[in-house]
Amino acid sequence: MKIQLPQKVDYIINQLIKHGYEAYAVGGCVRDSILGKEPEDWDITTSAKPMEVKKIFKRTIDTGIVHGTVTVMLEKDGYEVTTYRIDGEYEDNRRPKTVEFTSNLVEDLKRRDFTINAMAYNTEVGLVDIFDGYKDIKEERIRCVGEPSDRFDEDALRILRALRFSAQLGFDIDKDTLEAVQKKAANLKNISAERIRVELNKLLLSDHPEKLMDAYEVGITKVVLPEFDAMMNTEQYNYHHIYNVGAHSMKALEWVDKNLVLRWTMLLHDVEKPSCKVKDEEGCDHFYGHPEKGADTAKQILRRLKFDNETTDTVVRLVKWHDYNFALTPAGMRRASNKVGTDIMELLFQVKRADILAQNPKTWGDKLGHLDKAKEIYQAILRKQECVELKDLHINGNDLISLGLKPGRALGKTLNLLLEQVLENPSLNEREKLLELAEQLISDNIENN
Ligand code: ATP
Ligand code: MG
Repeated sequence: MKIQLPQKVDYIINQLIKHGYEAYAVGGCVRDSILGKEPEDWDITTSAKPMEVKKIFKRTIDTGIVHGTVTVMLEKDGYEVTTYRIDGEYEDNRRPKTVEFTSNLVEDLKRRDFTINAMAYNTEVGLVDIFDGYKDIKEERIRCVGEPSDRFDEDALRILRALRFSAQLGFDIDKDTLEAVQKKAANLKNISAERIRVELNKLLLSDHPEKLMDAYEVGITKVVLPEFDAMMNTEQYNYHHIYNVGAHSMKALEWVDKNLVLRWTMLLHDVEKPSCKVKDEEGCDHFYGHPEKGADTAKQILRRLKFDNETTDTVVRLVKWHDYNFALTPAGMRRASNKVGTDIMELLFQVKRADILAQNPKTWGDKLGHLDKAKEIYQAILRKQECVELKDLHINGNDLISLGLKPGRALGKTLNLLLEQVLENPSLNEREKLLELAEQLISDNIENN
């Protein structure tokens, strides 16, 4: 087994060896190299202690000295070099309380989660693979290093990581490991939202996001995303649908790009269908109000998972508008752009397309045709740079103040009334015309009062 290490990685390893230490590329980068994938980053593990690493290289950053990690800077690139470690006692199914440095590579490999992640490599020694990780890669298997139940007791995040790697690589989880996943899933409640978010994101951005349904089967989502369980348990009896809400959402998710906002939107777009379901006399299911209610719930979920505001807000708005019924006229599409916001209109088109493609194929033709028309009309609006938002209006608050209005509610209301007229008729968006309309609105208002 030969791995082509990047020059700088090889250089760091050789420098450490030259100074009498051991050093290897380790973990994800070895796994990805064997898989023929370009690793995202190259981690190095060494018998040298952090202070010893710092002595050898000119430019280093103290990334996590207590955990043994020093970042070595070569030109603009940084490489994490971590001292061989034995994890101390674990608390509450989370990270170890303490870590201990060791000079034994095997001890370091033992603490790693899965066999495919527990291999080390350098040019001198070749592949160090004491847990048969190579074989597990070839046989497409996720398997714990050591006794799965014990490893999940130490750090419950590994339960979700097993599913995440299975989704990224398309591998199955080995029987004993899977049994332990099922048995220990409840311990995920002790894991921080931030760590869960990282793994859920990787799962959703993987080639097999539908493995979230496996996560449901084994009891993982019940702990980290119980809303998904409710979706999986909600059938939809109507002409439009052929899947339950959860499976439909998974199908929809596969139709959008690998983009976090889009993937979370598809996952959550129908999150409140379970609570909004009503059956009519013919036995047909309806879900009135689910987009608005779903937007509120999406916000709660993303807040709970400590997402940043921008991601949260965008997903929430897309969930809210995912069912918007476009009126196929220029004025109708201008009104839609005004409500939805031009910043997310393109995303909304992708969301709606994916939503359609996850419904009954017999309904695709009409729905996709309607969507294409809507896009066409919208493109024309953009081309003509027609006004769809207050900021595009050729009149502003100051103009209204000079007409005698005082800053406040009435002023805002007048601007919005003008915008409504312009949405209906873009040719009104000229300063003179708008001033005239404004004067009229103001005098009408005075008469009415
Ligand atoms: P990715 O390509 O997603 O970064 P990775 O394998 O590099 O995958 P990381 O989370 O970056 O995953 O972790 C780097 C390495 O550290 C892993 O390959 C594994 O050996 C070890 N590791 C990470 N998290 C854990 C954990 N919770 N328990 C045990 N070992 C872990
Ligand atoms: Mg990594």
